[in-house]
Amino acid sequence: MNCGTCGAVLTYNELGLNKKFNANAAAPLCKGCLARKLGVTQARLEEKIEEFLAAGCKLFVRL
Ligand SMILES: [Zn+2]
Repeated sequence: MNCGTCGAVLTYNELGLNKKFNANAAAPLCKGCLARKLGVTQARLEEKIEEFLAAGCKLFVRL
């Protein structure tokens, strides 16, 4: 699957981020485009991935 804005190939964790933060969008976004849309930094999204991993969320894997 590819980013709906820039066409980058999406990783498993990026798809997970879309399920959490971009579920109603027409197309999934890569981390950079999703961060821009949400008005946060990519580092903040990385932190959220870590939080979901710590909570045992299966939408994310440790790379
Ligand atoms: Zn993108």
